[in-house]
Amino acid sequence: VNAAADFADEDGGKLVRGGRARLVLRGSDCLAAFLGAVRGAPRRTALFCDVDGTVSPIAPTPAEAVVPAATRTLLEHLMQALGLVAFVSGRDAVTARRLVGIDGAVYVGGHGLEVLTADGRLGSDPRAEPYVPMMRDLLARSRAGLGAAGVMLEDKRTIIGAHYRTAPDPAAALTAIEELLAGPARAAGLRIASGHFMVEVQPPIDVSKGDAVRRLLDEGDYRAALFAGDDLTDRTGFSAVHGWAAEDGGRAACAVAAITEETPDEVRRDGDVWVAATPGVTFVLGLLAKEAAAD
Ligand SMILES: [Mg+2]
Repeated sequence: VNAAADFADEDGGKLVRGGRARLVLRGSDCLAAFLGAVRGAPRRTALFCDVDGTVSPIAPTPAEAVVPAATRTLLEHLMQALGLVAFVSGRDAVTARRLVGIDGAVYVGGHGLEVLTADGRLGSDPRAEPYVPMMRDLLARSRAGLGAAGVMLEDKRTIIGAHYRTAPDPAAALTAIEELLAGPARAAGLRIASGHFMVEVQPPIDVSKGDAVRRLLDEGDYRAALFAGDDLTDRTGFSAVHGWAAEDGGRAACAVAAITEETPDEVRRDGDVWVAATPGVTFVLGLLAKEAAAD
């Protein structure tokens, strides 16, 4: 497989074979080099994917998100072919598994607070447990007021997600989130994080997607690791695979940024490869599957 012939690049200006829309926007050389490292060693390759905005297109509300059938088929194939397939999400791990639905994969939830292993064991960071009652209390107190402002609350047990993409007045919804949820949470010592049209209340624990990625990489014998993501918290996944690869010249890493008009600049800056949103991610999964099959 000549990967470089399969996609276009802003610098190279190559045409996409078959006349498809351009899916790789930047970094095709980096992607080709990574695919070269996968070739002949798929069992020593680890694939990490964020869920929302990466393998499932951004949806109006979290409940409406789905993984497209073609993407799922490729992921199932990669699940058989690669050494590790892990989904690394801000959702809780059980919900992430329900959404993605790939058996045998590892699901990291809560940005690293939870891990659902391939054999179905759910482990959560014990440091987060004391915050569960506080989260429940905050949800109960803010639910009516935020509902009136069109904010959708997501109960992730150790985390609260407040989504305002579909609010009639997003600016007013954000103000309501600050007054009713984020302000009181901050005053109680909890952490506040923002993403695409959402605000999260998190326990004040230093944990990240990148920490979970690094732990999983250290548990196996891998020589290639790819992390695909679209939002700020995914940058810790990017740096985890980069840091891991930098420790050994025989390792290869690739950070794939799923780009939309909403992509924060920091995500663009830290991605080795830019792809056009979830179709671009699916395209990269297809290239990976080809390399794995060529083994
Ligand atoms: Mg995402």
